[in-house]
Parts: sequence; structure tokens; C-alpha cells
Amino acid sequence: MNQARPSSELEKAFDAFPDRDSQGAMKAVWLPRVHSLNIFVFDQCTTLDELLQSKDVNDILDQFSRSIDTRPSFKRYSSYNLLTWINVESELVISSDYDLEDIPWKASVLSGFKDLLSSCNCRLSLLKVQSDLVSTKDLPSKHWMELLDCWSCHNSEFTVITNKLNMQTENLIMPALNTFHIGLDFILAPLENLNLEVLDIENENVSCHKCRFYIGKHISNGQDANCMKMYKSSVSLIDREGFEEEGPSFIKMFMLQMLEYIESHHTFRFIISSEEGHTELYLWLVNWQENICLGSRFRPIFHFKYLENDVETGDYERIHLPASQYVELLNGFAESRKLLDGIPMLDKMYSLIL
Ligand SMILES: [Zn+2]
Repeated sequence: MNQARPSSELEKAFDAFPDRDSQGAMKAVWLPRVHSLNIFVFDQCTTLDELLQSKDVNDILDQFSRSIDTRPSFKRYSSYNLLTWINVESELVISSDYDLEDIPWKASVLSGFKDLLSSCNCRLSLLKVQSDLVSTKDLPSKHWMELLDCWSCHNSEFTVITNKLNMQTENLIMPALNTFHIGLDFILAPLENLNLEVLDIENENVSCHKCRFYIGKHISNGQDANCMKMYKSSVSLIDREGFEEEGPSFIKMFMLQMLEYIESHHTFRFIISSEEGHTELYLWLVNWQENICLGSRFRPIFHFKYLENDVETGDYERIHLPASQYVELLNGFAESRKLLDGIPMLDKMYSLIL
């Protein structure tokens, strides 16, 4: 395939971060799956022995619970030196933030909550009912219906459920009054339980009536059930002691969704579009288990390949985002690009450092 060019929106986002990271003299990439650690050193005038005694390299090595005592391979390139260790065994756990077993704000965490507030500066109270009347239940993965094929012998055992759900938006299981259904990145609540006076519902988008901050979607099955899908990243929680807890970040929830797609489909191609524009990004998630050390600590990093818009082969998952989240995602790519500057290969990827 020819080298794909990013859409003009993505290019604009990159331009908004013109100052590439110039201070980082050293960047480390840890690949747990292949047990390899690579340290890129951008200072040309050093020898391997000097590097192995340097504080920066030792700070990185010290993070591995089993010490790395072998000598790395050492190569000089025109703009950097590369130290590579192979067969590195480590119990270093970095990606625990991105584990589908550990989804933020599950039903058990939310139970007993007092209120939900909009995450905008208005901090509007979203609940109408007393929250101790509300019970919370976790929904299965949104891909659960696709797994019915595995359980069903005659394609008919689940007809009653599937027919009912097919009539509903997004195959969501609608909550009954005073019940909130908790999904991966959203809380599904009956409209009757919500303080509708503070909300603007336009088409299906629900936002703060004061500042238009996007909170979620109005979901209706066209009959009696009406509810709101509030994104966890758009609300904060008042817990039973009255403390406020910010919702997880949009980028974090976005990446958990990616992991869920991977687990259920094993296909990594996405079309991401902004609901307010016609822009679309065609991306292919090419890795999800890599970690990068910029400065002192390792952080998970995900890489996408940018695909031309006219790619016709393969299946794509469509993800629609409100304009504000779309911009946040573009900025995430742009910011990560800035931090990866100088690392060969990676600076051609569209990455998200988390
Ligand atoms: Zn607001």
C-alpha cells in the first residue's frame, strides 16, 4: 500500500503541536510479548559503558523487578544510538489500567452512589430520584449477541430475546425504572430518573443546557422505553460519603472499547467519524501491548496505521464520536506524535500514549 496521508483534520491537529519533544535525550520501548527492551539515546557522543553507568539508563532498568545484568547490543545510527536487550523476563505490570477485567465504574463501584454530576464547570446534578432507590447492574459486553451463535444449535433458542433487542437502538438492554445499567463506557438510565430540566436533548444528543457540554445520547426503543446513555467520561460521581470522583478519561474509555472489539472480533480496523462533520478516520489498530518510557515511568501505548479512505477490503467497525471527543482523540494522536519524535518507525504510526 502507498504511504497513506492523514486527513486534513489530523494534519491540523499535528500542526497544533509544532514543538517536538526536544528535551528527551532517551526514550525506552518495552515489548512484553517479545521480551525485548529498546533504549533510544539521542546523544551521539556516548559510549556503551558510559550509558550503562548513567543514571537515566539505570532508572529505566531499575523498574524491572528482575535485574537485567546482560549487556545489550549497541548500534549507532545517524540520529540516535540503540541499546537492545532481548529475553528480558519481567513482572513489570504497566497495562493494568487497560484491562477489560478492570473496567472503571462497574455496577459494584457505582452502587450506593449519591448523585451524578455533569463534568462541565456547571456541575449540574443529573439525578432526580433519591439515589438510594436506584440499583445498578452490569451489562454484558456489547458484542454479546454475536456470541449467541456459539451457544445456539438451531438458531432459534434465543429468538425471543434477539427479536426484542433488534427492535431497540444499539441492541441495548433497556433498564427498568430505578435501575441503571452499566456498560463499558456508559451508564444507561431511565429518563424518569433524571433531572431533565438541566439537559438539552437535540436529535439524539444530550448536553448540559447551560454550556452544551456533551453528556450522552437519548435512546428510545420507539415504544415505551426511554433512557439516556451517559458516558462515564462526561460525568462525575458523588459517592456515599459525599466525595466527588471524576469519571475516567475519554481516551481511556476509547482504548478499552478498542480492546473489547479486539477480543470479540479479532479485527482491528475502525472508521471513526465525527457526528457533527463528515470527517472520517480509517484506522487499523496494529498493537495493543507495548509500553514506552519517556522520562521516568512506562506508559502503555497503542499504535494505529492510517488507511486511505477508499480502502474497500475488510470489515470496519464504525465509531461515531461527538465533535468534542473527536477533537480530543485527534489531539491525543498529535500529542503522542510529538512525544515519539525521533524514534524510528513509531513516528510514522498514529499512536496514543496513555
Ligand atoms: Zn455545563
